[in-house]
Amino acid sequence: MTTHAAQPIEASPLEPGPWTVPDDRPCMQCGYSLRGLTVSASCPECGMPLANSVRGAFLRFSDPAYLRTIHAGVKLIEWAIVLRAIAFFGNLLLSATSVVASAYQNDLRSWLLYTPAYLAAYIGWWMFTASDPGLQTFDPSRRPRRWIRITILAAIGVTFVDLVVLVAGLPFARTVTNVVGVLSFVGWVIRTMVAIQYCLWLARRAESAKVAGTAQTMTWGIPVLATVGSIVLGLGALLAIAFFLGLLDDVRSLLRRARRQRETITTPPAGLTAGAHPIPPAP
Ligand SMILES: [Zn+2]
Repeated sequence: MTTHAAQPIEASPLEPGPWTVPDDRPCMQCGYSLRGLTVSASCPECGMPLANSVRGAFLRFSDPAYLRTIHAGVKLIEWAIVLRAIAFFGNLLLSATSVVASAYQNDLRSWLLYTPAYLAAYIGWWMFTASDPGLQTFDPSRRPRRWIRITILAAIGVTFVDLVVLVAGLPFARTVTNVVGVLSFVGWVIRTMVAIQYCLWLARRAESAKVAGTAQTMTWGIPVLATVGSIVLGLGALLAIAFFLGLLDDVRSLLRRARRQRETITTPPAGLTAGAHPIPPAP
């Protein structure tokens, strides 16, 4: 995927020279259009050196607050998996030890046990798919991020319906729960496939050819494993989930590294205030 923002300008932006930004690429920190500015200058809006922006849409030049948000998001998604495991075993334990429990009580109990996991996952995915303020007009991840959020909103919707029907004790609650289960599964499949694309984009921005290669393999490997692999191996779907979680964990590491690298990058020069335009555009 070649993008406008990811293409570095030919001449070295670190050497002072007559080069100016030839297009509308945005400042990676604030989104200001850099057209016509000399490459050795700083962004007139926020003071970020242009060199950072024209070298490509690398995460190590992105807004620290943005990096913090998506990093926290992917960590929450991982915590959601831990919470899910706790809920699963807690549910097993309680089912084994409860003396008398109606189907209704069982459903409600498992619902309560899984709620922290669901909440962590929903909030985590939402944060992980935050938009980069530096990529407003050149963001190829806009569509994957939107689809992930659509599946999250849908998941919240059907889970809520499930709970209402359950608490109200409606006679068709079981049917609703089954339908919700199928819908959640479909949403999860869509989210996983789209999230692989999103991870691929983040891996490129983090300059990790290795993780990008892994993500690229997964775009066809995960569906094959989950379908053909399940029939042949029996464990294909489980392996697919494990590989996907491994990819998420790789991205988490890349984001941590990008945040560290970002800390070493020059902050706006002292005395420069937002909105000031000390550097006129080059003619
Ligand atoms: Zn800026």
